[in-house]
Amino acid sequence: MKGKVVVIGGGMVGVCCAWFLLKRGWQVTLVERREIGVETSYGNAGVITRGSILPLNNPRLWKSLPGYLGNHSAAVRYDPLYLARHSWWLARFLANARDEQTLRAAAALNELMTRALPVHKALMQEADVLPRLRENGWLKLYRHAERFDSSAYERRIYDHFGVSYQIVEREQIQALEPALQPIFNKGILVTDTASVDNPGAVVQAYAAAFVAQGGVIRQGTVTDARQVGGEFVVSIQQGVNSFAEHADQLVLAAGPWSNQLLKPYGWQLPICYERGSHYHYLPQAGVLPHRPFYDVESAYVMTPTDNGVRVTSGSHLLDIARQAEPLQLQQVLPRVQEALPLASQPVSPLWQGNRPSTPDALPILGALPGVPGVWLATGHQHVGFSTGPVSAKALAALIDGEQPEFDMRPFSPSRFRF
Ligand SMILES: Cc1cc2nc3c(=O)[nH]c(=O)nc-3n(C[C@H](O)[C@H](O)[C@H](O)COP(=O)(O)OP(=O)(O)OC[C@H]3O[C@@H](n4cnc5c(N)ncnc54)[C@H](O)[C@@H]3O)c2cc1C
Repeated sequence: MKGKVVVIGGGMVGVCCAWFLLKRGWQVTLVERREIGVETSYGNAGVITRGSILPLNNPRLWKSLPGYLGNHSAAVRYDPLYLARHSWWLARFLANARDEQTLRAAAALNELMTRALPVHKALMQEADVLPRLRENGWLKLYRHAERFDSSAYERRIYDHFGVSYQIVEREQIQALEPALQPIFNKGILVTDTASVDNPGAVVQAYAAAFVAQGGVIRQGTVTDARQVGGEFVVSIQQGVNSFAEHADQLVLAAGPWSNQLLKPYGWQLPICYERGSHYHYLPQAGVLPHRPFYDVESAYVMTPTDNGVRVTSGSHLLDIARQAEPLQLQQVLPRVQEALPLASQPVSPLWQGNRPSTPDALPILGALPGVPGVWLATGHQHVGFSTGPVSAKALAALIDGEQPEFDMRPFSPSRFRF
């Protein structure tokens, strides 16, 4: 054994950090306050695609921005006070929506995304969940063929980075997805894509494999994690009980909650929360689509799951602690019914989660500057389900003092030192 690591956060990112460190011979304890994989890593669309290398804050944002300002958009809503409090984040987010930075971010994300599927497949094989994976692409669909032109920038980025896709017309869309109503006239089939039928179950299977191989999971809320003498003391609350774990290395992978754990170190990462919601429904005709699709003009994604279809919403920028009506989801439901008639009642309760988003659209991976032994793995915004394992594999290499397969500098926490 090399020493002991405590990983905080049992989402896709934390579970994979724990598992890769265990594989490298560390003694690993993973701490999660709830069940494994029930937060953001549960409720996502389960898409693993190189198509996601294009950050949301790309030059196209300037065209869409006027449509967001009224705060009625199904794609993006915001709490004005929250954004005012995070004006630095917003200014940086917008400033990055230009060609040069988009290419830089896409290049960095491409390093993660090109490795995402092979790394997932190896883990799925080991965790015995490979049957949950579908390797049949995903569709970005347009109801009006003329609106398809708005995807030109995206396709340019795909061409630049060699992302495979096909342009599909109405008949091809019907042939690919006979369950859908014939309302889509044009689209993109991104073929460099896979998806899963239950993202939370995949995270839980990875955690079970971690435990089967000798890892330890402690359930409880980390209330404090700080350096005392030559070690880290992690204070954990479980109901009325409290206890401590001691470690040589600490990995903070608490997704949207990571900043709370950084307070003892005097750090606050520039992360904003993009709330997303989902419901599950059963199609009236009982037939599911074969693959996820994005109804671009309506701003929802539909994913076939092992429990009907999952309809996920756009982004709502607001404080993580704030309760909010799922307005965007309610807004898109009539549009969803036009694409695939569904039973009127959902088969699952409303789920909401928060994408932890950085102003440059890149995750935060690496050593916390000035505090040897503390490692960050957070800020995975819209792509953490797919890139969590690659991020974790690379971080484990860094912790062992090795150079990962790709340049980690774009993800370094020190880029936010100001
Ligand atoms: C609607 C929606 C759709 C999405 N679709 C996709 C998609 O198709 N593909 C994709 O790749 N990504 C997608 N994402 C993004 C993806 O879900 C996230 O990037 C990813 O799940 C983040 O994983 P994580 O492990 O960092 O965070 P989480 O899954 O949130 O895990 C963090 C964990 O830390 C725990 N924790 C927090 N504080 C403490 C504490 N003090 N003590 C102990 N434990 C603590 C939490 O309980 C939680 O389990 C989507 C997100 C949303 C919201």
